[in-house]
Amino acid sequence: MVKTAKTASAAAETGEAWHSLDIEKSLRVLDSDRNTGLTNEQVKERLHKYGSNELEETAGRNSWDILLDQFKNIMLLMLIGVAFVSGFLDIVKLQQGDLKPGEVPFKDTIAILLIVILNGVLGYLQESRAEKALAALKKMSSPKVRIVRDRRTLEVSAKELVPGDIMLLEAGVQVAADGRLIEESNLQIREAALTGEAHAVEKEADLHLGEDTPLGDRINLVFQGTEVVQGRAKVLVTNTGMKTELGRIAEMLQSVESEPTPLQQRMSQLGNVLVTGSLVLVAVVILVGLIRTGWNFATFISLVEVSLSMAVAVVPEGLPAVITVTLALGTQRMVRRNALIRKLPAVETLGSVTTICSDKTGTLTQNKMVVQQVATVKQKFQVTGEGYTPEGEFILEGKSVNANHYPELQTLLLACVECNDAELQCEANNAPGSNGGNWKILGDPTEGALLTLAGKGNFQKENLNQQMPRVGEIPFSSERKRMSVIVKDESESLIENSANFILFCKGSPELILQRCTYYLEGWQNAELTENQRQEVLEKNNQMAGKGLRVLGFAYKPMDNKPSGELNEDQLEQGLVWLGLVGMLDAPRPEVRDAVAKCKNAGIRPVMITGDHQLTARAIAHDLGIAKEGDRVLTGQELQKISQQELEQEVDQVSIYARVAPEHKLRIVQALQNRGKFVAMTGDGVNDAPALKQADIGIAMGITGTDVSKEASDMVLLDDNFATIVAATEEGRVVYTNIRRFIKYILGSNIGEVLTIAAAPIILPMGGVPLTPLQILWMNLVTDGVPALALAVEPAEPNVMKRPPFNPRESIFARGLGWYMVRIGVIFAILTIILMEWAFTHAQGYGDPDRWKTMVFTTLCLAQMGHAIAIRSNTQLTIELNPMTNPYVWGAVILTTILQLMLIYVPPLRAFFGTQVLDFGELMICLGFSMLMFVWIELEKLFIRWFGKTRS
Ligand code: ATP
Repeated sequence: MVKTAKTASAAAETGEAWHSLDIEKSLRVLDSDRNTGLTNEQVKERLHKYGSNELEETAGRNSWDILLDQFKNIMLLMLIGVAFVSGFLDIVKLQQGDLKPGEVPFKDTIAILLIVILNGVLGYLQESRAEKALAALKKMSSPKVRIVRDRRTLEVSAKELVPGDIMLLEAGVQVAADGRLIEESNLQIREAALTGEAHAVEKEADLHLGEDTPLGDRINLVFQGTEVVQGRAKVLVTNTGMKTELGRIAEMLQSVESEPTPLQQRMSQLGNVLVTGSLVLVAVVILVGLIRTGWNFATFISLVEVSLSMAVAVVPEGLPAVITVTLALGTQRMVRRNALIRKLPAVETLGSVTTICSDKTGTLTQNKMVVQQVATVKQKFQVTGEGYTPEGEFILEGKSVNANHYPELQTLLLACVECNDAELQCEANNAPGSNGGNWKILGDPTEGALLTLAGKGNFQKENLNQQMPRVGEIPFSSERKRMSVIVKDESESLIENSANFILFCKGSPELILQRCTYYLEGWQNAELTENQRQEVLEKNNQMAGKGLRVLGFAYKPMDNKPSGELNEDQLEQGLVWLGLVGMLDAPRPEVRDAVAKCKNAGIRPVMITGDHQLTARAIAHDLGIAKEGDRVLTGQELQKISQQELEQEVDQVSIYARVAPEHKLRIVQALQNRGKFVAMTGDGVNDAPALKQADIGIAMGITGTDVSKEASDMVLLDDNFATIVAATEEGRVVYTNIRRFIKYILGSNIGEVLTIAAAPIILPMGGVPLTPLQILWMNLVTDGVPALALAVEPAEPNVMKRPPFNPRESIFARGLGWYMVRIGVIFAILTIILMEWAFTHAQGYGDPDRWKTMVFTTLCLAQMGHAIAIRSNTQLTIELNPMTNPYVWGAVILTTILQLMLIYVPPLRAFFGTQVLDFGELMICLGFSMLMFVWIELEKLFIRWFGKTRS
């Protein structure tokens, strides 16, 4: 446990620490009211005085680290080596007076070093932009806090909190500021972020502690950044922003996630292979050259020059930058489709998802609940009305009835209000056609729907809370699937056969019914017979079979308030059954198409829900997730089978019902063991382990707890299943584009290397066809610019009509390696033929080196044809709409103009060591380069005719 000095700026003014003040005094010090909160004027004033509740980001890599990281790349290190060797050769030439007239010494060295620096700076700019963008994305998912302010309960962004605010906490939230507990119920908080202590700490409001109590023992305080694991609380905010305990130890803040993507890792492996390969090649060329010609210093120098060019040619200098930009653009496109990426690898790995495990409520359905039926033991009421507006009728046997005439219904409606943590609020709405009010809920939609139902029978929370104040509760959790509250009955006439205290309980009908001994008949408690139990379960099944979400209600009058800790096994026994409430949570209309799209794309959607199996099945059928007769596995069954047995079943089951969060973890693990690549949604605190285990953990942006968001790779801003499918589609596009430009860049590199290596063999007296400077130009500009344009290529028409690729496949899989070698060889053959012809042709002119410029130009222009043709793997260029990616055409035109400038603008010509080509020569270069385009188009036709698909 960490010991710290006295906390609290405001308390410091009084000379005391918050944990040693009692509640009333704390409220007085901060001039706040536990029921009404601060006034708006006070908030304004305090925001000015204390600033907004934000921590200054100190974590993450600093600028120096990012810059230095750029130069840790083995390929850049090799380039630096090449620069120095090239500089050394120039020194030798200077000493021996070997420089040609007009040749600038150290040109290549300076150019290579400049490129290395430029590459480093570009990488730095992109990475720091990516880090900032990720940090900004992270802020977008920053938590909301429920507070009481100016007499109202509202939700504000965490940064708007000020000392004196009254903050409401519930399970799953991350505490947004430091505070003094005013009230709590079963509150347990995990303070690992602060104290390193993994176990949750039980908190208590009604205590004041000694001043020297260490931080970890201040159980009447809560701290920013810690997580509410269980229970509820009302808290007086004492410190915000950098004044909080977390602010004080800001270095313990979690850093922005920026792990290298699997692709980046593979790229650095590729770098190692390329560098080692090129060094071996260099050694071979020098050795073979020397063996052939015998030792001769001039030959040695020219062989070293060839080797240097080869070493430069083999390194794809532009590739890392293109990859970073592609991933960054991917995150932007995804956020436009409501998927917020929290960890960069998710952009690329999303494309490989084979199974999407989704919650039902809110993700597949709208989470806008409307109660349609209420069934007591003897009566069945239909309920009318729409949305959350508390206006509607109770219909019994076709007739509208007054709820107050039915004691069972009346007590059930009372339970709806009392056993409820949500709030129903009416916002003024003057829009034409509206009835003057826009009803909204704050809190869980299931509970919101219950408040609306109660409102239809004239039971309002505001009136009832005073007559029946809550004195205890056992909160809802997905494991318990029920909640109970104990209220003190101070009303005169709400319930006829009341006692001093009443326990109200609601939750999964089967579980509540198990705990009931009686049922309410009129105002009397009657013994519940076995037949009646079966009838209730039958009614429950009927409602659930229609896709309704059904809750059971019960109550228990009690003479005394139970003392000490509330024991659920004792309290939730011997209950009086009240009835069932069935609410409709309609499926989201867009999900049906998204499910069909998933299936077409070879992705299996799976529903995992805490709800009843019949409700789950009805909705799954409606959405096309499961077919008639498909197997449903329940939490109870899951509990009984071993992990191996689950693995056998997991491929056949599309619906898991009545599951608890820990089952989700088992399901993900079983699927993964079957080789599946799993995306899994979750919203609760206890979903975090499953989200972490899944290949893509997806949290809900609206209903998700902060803890689940923290554990996720992606957040759904609209909680919608269709968004997962959209993000998967984007992931596939990103991955396809990355493979496309890798093929494009590395194919040309292989062509360059082979051409340079062939030159001393074919033209022993010709010298090196390409200088390192020209090669750098090709790799960075004539390859790099079109590659960037290829990175934004839109989706191919079949992107969601093919099965996912294996996420663990090598980068060279599905013919990519073979394509690179094949295209590299074609490149080299074309250029070598041209080189042979141009060399002989150029000897007749006054400038015998002109053939080198022809080789240089042909290689560059051939890459332009390659860029145009590679846009699609299957469609011919004439079949593609040029406007779907105008950037490629823009890049080709721009690069061609730049290339021509290198030949025809005198200063550039001098710098790059080129010669002027006449029109005929230029046309010959163009002709040879067009052959590259023609070859790739012919390949597509060939594949089409012979029916094979190529990656
Ligand atoms: P999903 O897992 O698809 O989101 P869900 O909302 O039904 O579905 P949980 O929130 O874990 O899953 O709820 C499980 C069950 O607990 C519900 O089916 C219902 O019977 C019961 N339940 C849900 N909300 C409450 C609540 N606020 N109070 C009491 N019981 C509830």
